[in-house]
Amino acid sequence: MAAVALPVLAAPDVDGVLAAARGAPRPRDLCTDCGISRSSHAARCGAACQFVHPRHASLERQVHGRARDAARGDEAHFGPYLEMWRARLAAPRAGAQWTGLTTRLAERLLEEGLVDAVIATASADDDRWAPVPVLVTEARGMARCRGMKMGYSPVLALLDEAAARGYRRLAVVGVACQVHALRALEASLGLERLYVIGTPCSDNTTTARFHDFLALLTDRPASVTYLEFMPDMHVELRFDDGGVRRIPFIRLPIAQLPADFIPLTCRSCFDYTNALADVTVGYMAAGGDQWLVVRNARGRELAALLGDEVALAPLGSRGDRRGPVRTFARMLERQKGGMPVRRAPRWARPLIGWLQARFGPKGLEFARTRVEMKVAEGIVNLRAERPRRVRALVPEFAWELAAPYGLVPRDGERGGTPSRER
Ligand SMILES: Cc1cc2nc3c(=O)[nH]c(=O)nc-3n(C[C@H](O)[C@H](O)[C@H](O)COP(=O)(O)OP(=O)(O)OC[C@H]3O[C@@H](n4cnc5c(N)ncnc54)[C@H](O)[C@@H]3O)c2cc1C
Repeated sequence: MAAVALPVLAAPDVDGVLAAARGAPRPRDLCTDCGISRSSHAARCGAACQFVHPRHASLERQVHGRARDAARGDEAHFGPYLEMWRARLAAPRAGAQWTGLTTRLAERLLEEGLVDAVIATASADDDRWAPVPVLVTEARGMARCRGMKMGYSPVLALLDEAAARGYRRLAVVGVACQVHALRALEASLGLERLYVIGTPCSDNTTTARFHDFLALLTDRPASVTYLEFMPDMHVELRFDDGGVRRIPFIRLPIAQLPADFIPLTCRSCFDYTNALADVTVGYMAAGGDQWLVVRNARGRELAALLGDEVALAPLGSRGDRRGPVRTFARMLERQKGGMPVRRAPRWARPLIGWLQARFGPKGLEFARTRVEMKVAEGIVNLRAERPRRVRALVPEFAWELAAPYGLVPRDGERGGTPSRER
């Protein structure tokens, strides 16, 4: 990984955003720059990292009091949880990725004085897609964090700044690779209280490469203000003039992207749903709304802070994931790593796109589909690109999800996780 400096957030004291992370990471293989290598904890980087020393099961036990249990609801796919909801803020927030549940949860913590600060991700002043980690101390500062940015956000570098300011009650908003390292170090951070608000994360890439992708999707990439991979198998683009464009996945210009457009880290991540957060706020299972996964008592405390600002409903589920996941896994194996490219003839793509949106898995079944695809992708990519890391990096739960698709451990591929992990 190149040792790049962070984009700039000017005037970090505006709106209670006290500090933005600085400095460059120490380059390392399989790294998503969670920020630890930029911090005083750098010596423990390897021990904390999901891509060096993953400890999914023991950290689940540490955080939730138990590891995921395949016999309980959907835990095999989504990790430990107490409840899951289809959710939306009654008053959606401008600039939010969905309705703004994530930033609103953090705002509520600050409003109630339950934390001294929140570590989250804002946008660079000159590029709304470039992530800048920030330490937010006033609720109104969270507005600057709304919306998804594409690129690594070394949020954990700000643990030092928080400690230097004497903040011992913190919230962190992050994706799974950041949360894994945070949980691995949590006991040694001397915090009085920690709330972890997680989002799922399928894949990330560098901001520069994301701009290349935007330029392939539209001839006015600079005017795109929003992009999301919708659960109805379309990418939605919104433009600064209010225009909206929806592109079926099957028609995305994936074949024109370099094979490493998505880094191997993201292609071999087995924690899509951020199982170590107190709450996970995503969208995959919610059919057009947000997906709120409350994982433990602290997560319940967080959800309760929203009161009647949030509308909750049961999640639905429809369809059968097995066909699509099987096809995807076969395609991956043929491809031997890299991004799977559908070679459907051009004329057939609109029809396939329509069929996928109309008859594909929906709700929880869609989320299970995506988790299984990601697990298959992780195993196939590691086998192709880092065969000697398979044993250490593929957790037991991933092998179990992949087994129905013929992806079973070969000699020496299982058991790398210490026995206490199983
Ligand atoms: C790279 C990426 C991929 C994602 N993929 C999926 C997916 O496949 N399925 C799914 O259900 N959800 C995914 N999400 C989460 C989703 O995009 C929404 O952020 C989430 O549903 C919350 O919506 P919201 O309206 O509540 O967020 P908002 O209230 O708008 O808040 C967004 C929050 O995201 C954080 N954030 C933004 N960019 C980054 C970043 N680069 N790194 C770390 N944190 C960031 C900010 O701190 C902010 O608090 C992904 C998020 C990211 C960053």
